[in-house]
Amino acid sequence: MDPRPGNAAELTHDVAVLGGGIAGATAALRLAQAGASPLWISRNPRTGFKPGEHLSAAALPLLKVLGSDALLRAEVHRHAHSTYSAWGSALLTERNAIVQLEGPPTVLDRISFEKALSTQAIAAGAERIERDVVDVRITGQTWELKLEDTIQKARFLFDATGRKAIVASKFAPRFQADRLTCQFAIFKCPEKSTPRPVTLIEAEERGWWYLSVLADRRVVVNFYTDADLHGFANPKLDRNARQSKTISAFLSDYGYEICSEVKRIACNSTWLAPAIGPGWVAIGDASAAFDPLSSHGITTALWSAIQAADAFLAQDRQKMQAYADGVAQGVQTYLDARSRIYGQEQRWKNSPFWARRAAVA
Ligand SMILES: Cc1cc2nc3c(=O)[nH]c(=O)nc-3n(C[C@H](O)[C@H](O)[C@H](O)COP(=O)(O)OP(=O)(O)OC[C@H]3O[C@@H](n4cnc5c(N)ncnc54)[C@H](O)[C@@H]3O)c2cc1C
Repeated sequence: MDPRPGNAAELTHDVAVLGGGIAGATAALRLAQAGASPLWISRNPRTGFKPGEHLSAAALPLLKVLGSDALLRAEVHRHAHSTYSAWGSALLTERNAIVQLEGPPTVLDRISFEKALSTQAIAAGAERIERDVVDVRITGQTWELKLEDTIQKARFLFDATGRKAIVASKFAPRFQADRLTCQFAIFKCPEKSTPRPVTLIEAEERGWWYLSVLADRRVVVNFYTDADLHGFANPKLDRNARQSKTISAFLSDYGYEICSEVKRIACNSTWLAPAIGPGWVAIGDASAAFDPLSSHGITTALWSAIQAADAFLAQDRQKMQAYADGVAQGVQTYLDARSRIYGQEQRWKNSPFWARRAAVA
């Protein structure tokens, strides 16, 4: 008899998914839809606000594959028709979704979207346990997952634990291209205000600003810079935003005031190679996490979860290898695009933030 508390079941699951973000929910959903009954372990769902709300139109075909595209019709999300950016010059230029063949991007309420995807995965048959994974070991061909109060076993793992990649980072080398970090806060405007539903991006000497109007008229304001640069620890996001040009004008035109604490979150470009190993596959940010300027993190999470789940379901090693090759190729394409886009900004060549990015351009 196993003396460990809570280890009543001798059951070894065929497959377990770790992590409750978009990659984890998508893998759990895809596996469950195929009848694979995945064990899905994730922390208690978050409440409040989760940054990363800009969903590229490229995600729509992936959501259709999952039968999840209707989730975007919820009132808590909005179409993002207009994005303005001051990047490479002080001139504000508009990118209007009318000229985009694939249709408009969406500004998501991330927490609601992740909850809806989770509900769909559970309804399809995923067995969800809301716990932290405290430790992971492999004995022979069986994974032992130590949770806070129990131990679960599985033969195959999907690591969808975000940048931490709690399993995959033990078995594959991690690479990192920068130390980008984000400070963010929520602002609200008076009832009588009618803000234009826009997204704004503004480059400045120490990094860049992002503002997006949410479906409920609040805005999220993000400032991106490198974690080791002077001034990063300064939590005065509101005061600094008021010294910007475009973001500041938008906030004062509509009477926005900060209404949340300022939080910080890592958004460095980091990836594992390879993204697969014996008995495991890394998906979403656990396999490759991108600079939010790309607006492709969510789409990549959806893509990677579907590709890896389909390879697992087919029990096809070549398909799994093709997935890992696809991740590696995607990282290269991303790094090239990142250099090109940062290289468009030439105004602050002596600023460490821009000089570092010019060095890789
Ligand atoms: C500031 C910021 C802005 C962004 N903006 C955009 C954007 O506009 N558009 C876009 O497409 N992408 C954006 N991204 C990227 C996007 O958010 C990520 O690519 C996406 O969240 C990846 O999803 P994921 O499921 O792989 O990881 P995550 O969302 O990080 O989910 C990981 C999950 O694993 C769980 N977990 C971790 N450790 C454990 C453990 N030990 N036990 C149990 N559970 C665990 C976590 O609780 C979490 O639920 C942004 C990212 C940041 C940081």
